[in-house]
Amino acid sequence: MGDAYLLITNLQKKQGECIGARPRVGFTRQLILPTVRHGSLPRGSENRHTGTAGSITPANLSPSPPTPTTMTIPDTLDSDELDAKRQAVVDTGVEMLEQGLTKGTGGNASARVGDDYVVVSPSGIPYETIEPEDVPLVNLEAELIDSDLDPSAETPMHTAVYRQRNDVGGIVHTHSPYASTFASLSEPIEASHYLIAYAGDKVPVAPYETYGTEELGAAAAETIGDQYNACLLENHGVLTVGETIEGAFETALIVEYCARIHYQARAIGEPTILPDAEVDRLVERFASYRTH
Ligand SMILES: [Zn+2]
Repeated sequence: MGDAYLLITNLQKKQGECIGARPRVGFTRQLILPTVRHGSLPRGSENRHTGTAGSITPANLSPSPPTPTTMTIPDTLDSDELDAKRQAVVDTGVEMLEQGLTKGTGGNASARVGDDYVVVSPSGIPYETIEPEDVPLVNLEAELIDSDLDPSAETPMHTAVYRQRNDVGGIVHTHSPYASTFASLSEPIEASHYLIAYAGDKVPVAPYETYGTEELGAAAAETIGDQYNACLLENHGVLTVGETIEGAFETALIVEYCARIHYQARAIGEPTILPDAEVDRLVERFASYRTH
């Protein structure tokens, strides 16, 4: 595929409206808008290296972090694959910024390494400054294996989906504005544009849970199920999956585009929703297009 991706990016460039995009030089933390930095825990509350499943939850934030547990990178991991996936996490974070899918340190991305490990964006570090070797490696229980940096607070959501879907090799989570608008309405994005079929017959909404919790991961995994490549997170944002992190990013871009078209159509009229049979055909067709 790639055509749709190019179509969208070229459209954005032509219209000169790369939403939220800004020159990477001169980027400062002052431009970070959210007062509650999402995708990371409040400073001083991180409890990395805990070695406990689901350790990154508000419920167990305490003034005295648990004793760190040291883990080592398993011999079974392919070091070339690990390096490539870490680089892909870095590249995807920068792309998320450049395409206006997130701002500041918001959102996060991950890639599966081997069958049972995941590299995921670090918490609270500007995307442009992340070094590939610092990208945290965790297992499928969200336990930190390797990095001096804390994994994203949303790591349990990523690992919940990886545990459920063997076909998923990459995940992207953003607060992209149009998709988040429908998330705040608790309203699925319907098939008013044919590209929605990248996500499924619609983009469903996972019920609200506090960010960073196992409950949010469970809600997202249940909503995405086996048949969707994206879901909205109520009052929060959007989660997309793919066979690779690049595929998940592409779907995140398309979901935001479809959300924008749906929003605009609703603003001046009532959008026509494609018939179920046609959406089903598109879903099948896009599935066969995918080379990743
Ligand atoms: Zn988030």
